[in-house]
This record gives sequence, structure tokens and C-alpha cells, in this order.
Amino acid sequence: MSPEEFRRYGKQVVDWIADYLEDIESQPVRSQAKPGDVRSMLPPHPPEQGEPYENVLRDMEQVILPGVTHWQHPSFFAYFPANASGPAILGDLLSAGLGVQGMVWATSPACTELETVVADWLAELLGLPFRTDGVAGGVIQDSASSAALVAVLAALRKSGRPGRIYVSSQTHSALEKAARIVGSEVCVVDVAPDTLAMDPVLLHALIAEDVAAGRKPALVCATVGTTSTTAIDPVREIGAVCREFGVWLHIDAAYAGVAAICPELRWINDGVAEYADSYATNPHKWLLTNFDCGVLWVRDRRPMIDALSILPEFLRNQASESGQVIDYRDWQVPLGRRFRALKLWSVIRWYGAEGLRAHIRAGVSLAQRFAELVAADPDFLLWEHHPFGLVCFRPLRTSPEQTLAMMEKVNDSGALYLSHTKVADQVLLRMAIGAPATTVEHVDQAWRAIRAALPGA
Ligand code: PLP
Repeated sequence: MSPEEFRRYGKQVVDWIADYLEDIESQPVRSQAKPGDVRSMLPPHPPEQGEPYENVLRDMEQVILPGVTHWQHPSFFAYFPANASGPAILGDLLSAGLGVQGMVWATSPACTELETVVADWLAELLGLPFRTDGVAGGVIQDSASSAALVAVLAALRKSGRPGRIYVSSQTHSALEKAARIVGSEVCVVDVAPDTLAMDPVLLHALIAEDVAAGRKPALVCATVGTTSTTAIDPVREIGAVCREFGVWLHIDAAYAGVAAICPELRWINDGVAEYADSYATNPHKWLLTNFDCGVLWVRDRRPMIDALSILPEFLRNQASESGQVIDYRDWQVPLGRRFRALKLWSVIRWYGAEGLRAHIRAGVSLAQRFAELVAADPDFLLWEHHPFGLVCFRPLRTSPEQTLAMMEKVNDSGALYLSHTKVADQVLLRMAIGAPATTVEHVDQAWRAIRAALPGA
């Protein structure tokens, strides 16, 4: 494809995306495709000869779109938001256009240095105590799962193997996966039944017992905003336990961490400055930056780099040897790395701190409105904890199976998309609000559709 052809089709693609986003509400939120539908419309063999790009764009409409669930739809309320935004998409396009591999500073100094600056900017915006100076620092990973794996590897480097990993029943499965990868045992600490937050007294007892038995505690993961219900583990109390036993404290704030950009929500950072060894949050969830963009900060980069740095001859270079530069390949599992900082930089510059705060506040306030609708309805029970954009609730008089059937009915309608979770054998519905296009009308409409799906309504 020549630069001229690229210019022509590039404009068409940008127009296509703009039209898609403008008309997104004409699509059913959840794809109505059945298993195999998309595959059956695609040729089983690759083309021998190249095709005009028009064919790709045509198939985007005819084959791909019917199989797409529209995560940017204002009535997408499932899982957590995965916000894209104009500046993020453009930043990602610029990154693709440069096609840079930023594994070491020398392979593209701007890729490394912009990432350092953007990670520091985000730490400042969120009131986090990590700046890339001395031994602390931030890095952009593809996901919170990778961030957790890196934290676990660093912690094991410090504690020695086989180190144990402590989580709660509400911790994201990414931690269990990281433990499996490194061959560590996972200990599950009970949560308080009303808040679903990890019990620090039980954590203390478990670690003390392990130490007494000669086992090595390596890492505790505290979650700020669990995936199921956005429960918040008591970081300060957990941190004190970690300090007593010399255990690494990782904070998984994948979804909720970005809320700290609002001063009124900064209480979620309580205990982080004093106790966290590592902290991860995903701008690719609620901060208008399309996947993938998860930021990991560490208080001391040395154990992480000791764990992950392997230097083959072909990567030796003067800059690395001078000790004056960061080589982010040593801060992650893969070698190669995209220029992800460009999209986060675009987003922060376009919206500014004010714009980003307004976005978070809009989600929180819509969630508050939805919670009030639920609370006022005698047929429903509201899960009281909803400080962010997620509201959990359930019909009062349906069985778990009926609640799930009700959710399927709503989701099948294509008008909105909800997900669910389970707490103490009860099915809770999850209404996760946070898309930039969502308005009061979308939330009210969703509530009407949910009510209408009640058996007998
Ligand atoms: N941790 C928490 C608390 C999450 O909610 C999620 C995803 O929803 C993850 C980790 C995993 O995120 P990622 O897809 O970035 O690995």
C-alpha cells in the first residue's frame, strides 16, 4: 500500500469509525450472533492474490459488525466499561503508524521517555506516591493481569521461593493465574460477609501460622474495587500486617483506581503511600483509553529488574550500559512493547485533569441515580456499597435461576447489556455505568427494561 493509497483508505477508515460511533445506538448492544455465524461467512482459505481495501471495509459491515458486541454503546452496562475515545484512538493510530518496538531506550528514546512522563503524570493525577526517580517508577503494561504477574515475580525475588501468595475470595483470578505461572501456592483469606473486604485479622493469623511452620509468605494482594462488587480491602490494616512480616503488598485497583483523580474519591488511596510495594490500575477500563493500557507502579524497581532482566548480546548498547536510561523490557514479561504511552498522553492532553474528573463524576452520579431507582422499588434489593460506577442489585422474590433468566431476556432484547455475579449463593445483577455517551435517559430506560423483565411484570 503506497502512502497515497494509505491516505485515501485511512480517511475512509477514520470516517467509518466516526460514523460507527455516531450511529452506535442503531445496533443491538450485545451481538445477536450464534456460535459459528461469523466464521461461516468467512472464506476458509486466505486469498492468493491481494484484494482492494474496499472489500475489507465491505466485510466490516456485512460480516464483522453483526458479530460485534458494542462496548462503546451508551447502554453497555456489563462487566466494567472499556472506554475508547477520540484522542485515544488517534494516539493508538499514531503508535501503529510509527510501528515502534520500545523494548530498550535505544530502540526509540521517545517511546521510553514519554512513558516515564505519562506514568508520572498519572501518578500525580491520582495522588499516588510513585514518581520515576530514585528506585521507584511506573510502566505501562498490557493488562492488570500482567502487572500482577510482574509484582509476583518481583516479590518472589525478594522473599525467595517458594513464596506464598495471599488473596481473598474476591481477588481477581489474575492473581491465581500469576501464582500458577510461577508455581506458588495461593492462600485465600476470608472476607467480611457484609462488605466482602479481606479480613486483616485473619490475614495476620494465616501469615503468622505460615511463618511459624517455616513457610515463606511472598505477596499479599489487596484490591481496591473488586471485579464482582467493587469491594475495597482495608489497605492500611493489610499493609501493617505486610510490614510486620516483611511481605510485598500489591494493590490491584484495575477498575476503581482511576477514580482517585477526583479529590472526593481519593480516600480510596488510604494506606497506599505508607504500605504499597506495587500498585496497578487500568486507564483502559474507565479512563477513556482503549485497551490495552494498564499502569503498574513499584516503590522499588530493583527486585523486579533482578527478576526479569536477561541481557542477550544483541540487545547490548551504550545507552543501557551507561545506566542513564530505563529499559522497560526489564519491567514486563514480553520483550517487545508497543508505544502505548501515545494514547494515554493524547487522552490526558485532550481532556485535561478537569475533563477526566468530569467523566468519572458523570459515571458516579448516574450510578447514584440508578441506585436510588432500585432502592425506591419494593421488588428489588440494592447492594448498599456502590461508590463508583457499578451498582449491584437483585429482584427480591425470584430464585437465582429466575434472576439469570431475567437478565438473559433483557440482554437478548439488544436494548442494553448487563452482567451478573454471585454473593452468598444469591445472583446479583451488575449495572456498570461509565461509557462517555451514557446519559440519564439511557439509565432510566435500562431501569424500565429491567423492571419490565420481572416475572409477572
Ligand atoms: N483486577 C481487577 C480488580 C479487575 O476488575 C480486572 C478486570 O476486570 C482485572 C484485574 C483484569 O484486568 P486485565 O484485563 O487488565 O488483566
